Amino acid sequence: MNLNIWALFGHAARHHREVEIVTGLPGGAVHRYTYGDFCDRAEMLMAALDGLELAEDAVVGTLAWNSHRHLEAYFAVPGTGRVLHTLNLRLSPAELARVIEHGGDEVILADADLLPLLVAAKAAGGLGRVRHVLVLGDTDTDAVDLPGLVSYEDLIAVHEPGYPRREWDEHRPLGICHTSGTTGDPKGAVYTHRSTVLHAFGVAAGSGLGLGPGDCGLAVVPMFHGNAWGMPYAATMVGAKQVFLAGPLTPARLAELMLTEEVTVSAGVPTVWLDFAEHLTATGLSLPDLRHVVCGGARPPRSLVDRYRREFGIPLVQAWGMTETSPLGSVAWPKHHMRHWDDERLLDEAGAQAGIASPGVEVSIRDGRGEEVPWDGRTMGALHVRGMWVVDGYLHGEAPGQFTDGWFATGDVAVGSPYGYIRIADRTKDLIKSGGEWISSVDMEAALMGHPDVAEAAVVAIPDPRWQERPLACVVPAPGREPRLESLREHLLGNGFARWQLPERMELLEAIPRTGVGKFDKKALRTSIDEKGTLR
Ligand code: ADP
Repeated sequence: MNLNIWALFGHAARHHREVEIVTGLPGGAVHRYTYGDFCDRAEMLMAALDGLELAEDAVVGTLAWNSHRHLEAYFAVPGTGRVLHTLNLRLSPAELARVIEHGGDEVILADADLLPLLVAAKAAGGLGRVRHVLVLGDTDTDAVDLPGLVSYEDLIAVHEPGYPRREWDEHRPLGICHTSGTTGDPKGAVYTHRSTVLHAFGVAAGSGLGLGPGDCGLAVVPMFHGNAWGMPYAATMVGAKQVFLAGPLTPARLAELMLTEEVTVSAGVPTVWLDFAEHLTATGLSLPDLRHVVCGGARPPRSLVDRYRREFGIPLVQAWGMTETSPLGSVAWPKHHMRHWDDERLLDEAGAQAGIASPGVEVSIRDGRGEEVPWDGRTMGALHVRGMWVVDGYLHGEAPGQFTDGWFATGDVAVGSPYGYIRIADRTKDLIKSGGEWISSVDMEAALMGHPDVAEAAVVAIPDPRWQERPLACVVPAPGREPRLESLREHLLGNGFARWQLPERMELLEAIPRTGVGKFDKKALRTSIDEKGTLR
């Protein structure tokens, strides 16, 4: 059987028509319909796309929050053979124009509140080949100057469901996602029908996010970033109830939806779960339906993993991945034989690790000569991956040097453990190179965030005439606390850091700058540090 998106869509349409899909709308209202409605409307969209007289392999962009309409596009665009290009709504107008141009988008489906961004992108660089803009919500289409602007609802309303299933070759491109450019210019990762179907199985599996028909999934991660970790495809495939949160996120809104819709599985970056923990503690709310939350995109502090288990009874399971790995790479489920270990050991060996490579993904951690380093829990090396849903090249053949003999050089530095888990020590570019040795900024941040005076911490390299680079600890104090450097240094010593690794300098900040997807933005932090290593 060809691994074609229709295999997932057809299954849902046949077996799960009564299951609900819910979208929490900005302002507090909720949109609710069933898989039956979703499938019908996705098929109407397929017919509408054909009606626009595009080439069968045209690129169709989405500039949208998480929602049921975005889900319709996830299936309808590749269902017609066209390529879904999810656009990051946090980009500046000029960056957005570049990414649209780079992807070759001819159509863009955009939420009404994001039209001003699209207008600004047009002014900043033109919309290149864009011929049609479909507005997902209500808006006065006459008032906005964009090419071929029409209402999505008007456009699909004149079509009927019942679009005939197509048998696309499994190697056909299905989607493009640009990396968010934390460490360089955005590059386009291209997913195929095959990689997307296999990834959906990997995400739904018990070794992945663990999703079945008895579940209700809420991806906090945006659908414009790494396909919301593949949850929309995986959840649709297994017929899980799905909840989307459109528009800006607040912990209160998230908690409310989780409670009322009986969400069982959720996924997001550490900053989301940090803020959410504060909300749960402040309100005393309990979420009895929530089986586990998956936390990836950056390393969650060890103390956060511990807090979810102790305080809320919710496993917070760490995962690693990147746009180029679809993005699921590894998930830190504890193994069966670890169930009787004490909490500290379990945290060290499983919870605080980035995970076990997902079946279908192979990992290799290499030294400077390209040899595999020992998986001893200590030795760092460059992380390489290959697998069923790891891309084997970038759009337009860019950065070919990152792909060798079928392996992708991730740019991450990792440590393998004797139990088969990996830990991400750093990104190559963030690693602090001091006197010929390496200091992991991620390890140091995690340890600092375990100190009671610290709410958040980011560690960046500052130039040093003698050692080349030294760590600078940028710290956001916990409410009512005043962190002192000496106490932080003592704490790091007690957490396995050597004396030579300890930071000599600390800067107190009100907040750590965040990227568009809520990770600490070290690029922004670094640019605000002058030559003397002082924050501007
Ligand atoms: P960007 O590079 O723009 O942030 P991605 O979302 O593709 O875009 O980010 C992937 C990167 O996020 C990985 O290469 C890694 O550096 C980081 N990352 C993801 N998960 C983890 C984790 N569990 N621990 C540490 N870093 C992680």
